[in-house]
Amino acid sequence: MTDRKLLIERSAEGKQSLVLPKTDVPEKAIEKIVPAHHLRTSPCALPEVAEPELVRHYVNLSTLNHHVDKDFYPLGSCTMKYNPKINEAFAASPCISEVHPLQPDANIQASLKIYHDVERFLCEITGMDAFTLQPAAGSHGELTGVMIMRQYHEHQKNHKTRILIPDSAHGTNPSSVNIGGYQAVTVASTPEGLVDLDDLRAKLDDDVAGFMLTNPNTLGIFEKNVLQIAELIHSVDGLMYMDGANMNALLGIVKTADMHFDITHINLHKTFSTPHGGGGPGAGPIGVVKKLVPYLPVPRVIKDKDNYHLSWEHPESIGKVMAFWGNYSVIVKTWVYIRMLGEAGLKDVAKHAIINANYIRASLEDIYELPYKTPPMHECVFSGDRQKSRGVRALDIAKRLLDYGMHAPTVYFPLIVHEALMIEPTETENKASLDHFIAVMRKIDEESREHPELLTSAPQNTPVRRIDELKANRDLNVRW
Ligand SMILES: *Cc1c(COP(=O)(O)O)cnc(C)c1O
Repeated sequence: MTDRKLLIERSAEGKQSLVLPKTDVPEKAIEKIVPAHHLRTSPCALPEVAEPELVRHYVNLSTLNHHVDKDFYPLGSCTMKYNPKINEAFAASPCISEVHPLQPDANIQASLKIYHDVERFLCEITGMDAFTLQPAAGSHGELTGVMIMRQYHEHQKNHKTRILIPDSAHGTNPSSVNIGGYQAVTVASTPEGLVDLDDLRAKLDDDVAGFMLTNPNTLGIFEKNVLQIAELIHSVDGLMYMDGANMNALLGIVKTADMHFDITHINLHKTFSTPHGGGGPGAGPIGVVKKLVPYLPVPRVIKDKDNYHLSWEHPESIGKVMAFWGNYSVIVKTWVYIRMLGEAGLKDVAKHAIINANYIRASLEDIYELPYKTPPMHECVFSGDRQKSRGVRALDIAKRLLDYGMHAPTVYFPLIVHEALMIEPTETENKASLDHFIAVMRKIDEESREHPELLTSAPQNTPVRRIDELKANRDLNVRW
């Protein structure tokens, strides 16, 4: 990119990229609708640029950031997989994008059918009895799940104050629990990377509202004692909540309900093919078992015979958790993706996710410390401790990867691993791209011995060199 001028800086009077048609609304009519003091008296100062300038500006901008269409993106926990473009094309087609949420039910039967189908598909995949598609993100799903827990305990006249969470949990788990009005209590992990059952027993009493567990957990390891954990939690009438953000490891292999969970969220923008990472729309549907169905948010999508309608008559519902009916386009993409893959295809997703992560683990564990040896599912977590003894940190390894044209893995999470490097290749990468990544990781280890300054001064080849991340977070300035 030659220069980084903003459009407003390129603007010069008279340059044009678009000629708008004359408005066909009579001025008189506008004055009637919009109060005079809200009307513009002079044109707004939009930049004036020529079409090629405009196109080049955005095309150049699109190459500054890393993205999964450009190269490998092994950001652990985030499932940055390649998303088939056909989903986007379908979600953007006028029959989908021009639907209005306030149209009468009779008018939007196809949209309601898509909602109903996706709810059914997710029930089939998880074994849950019903779903709501309203929550806008995984964390929003967690909060909705905690609100459902509260409603359940109030109806049961249970006195509950605390929710247990393993120390490997994603940061959103304790936050959602706190916002939902419960105290989050941490349960330790064993050297195998599983929930420490003794610690769990020590912290369990009648005040425990439930357990929030990610399975496979954030080390990528399947909680093999999950049935035992469920039995303990259910013995005090607690509820088992599964953070299902890692569902791409389980599709078609094991159902959430068979692990005795009562509530689960699913990240449609991780597992079910919506691009994410830039803050775009997502969805975190919540599924529940039968005894919790009355508490689901309204409206629910109901099918009678061949007709679908939005139903509001659920007096025990926690109410609405989202404007209108959730992020429709994300739900549409899920519908296309699931229908395209079918049952066998979904199972392949999980198998490939697991084999890819294990291939990387096995190919790098002689060089990078692997603190938890239990074979993982869809992601693997190394420690950069050996490299640290040579004066380079996990952060430096991550930055050096950028020089090789790849995105970095998640670093310093989960918190229970020193210098954590959390790698999730996802199911959409083939062996050649994994081999390339493995070769680069081995090369970086070599560099850490011979030329550590290449790591500590990385990145060299990116549009922006190392930034002050703390300052960027604390003093965010997004104004021009
Ligand atoms: C991504 C993720 C979440 C949060 O989901 P958001 O959609 O980002 O709110 C929660 N738990 C785990 C394990 C995750 O990977």
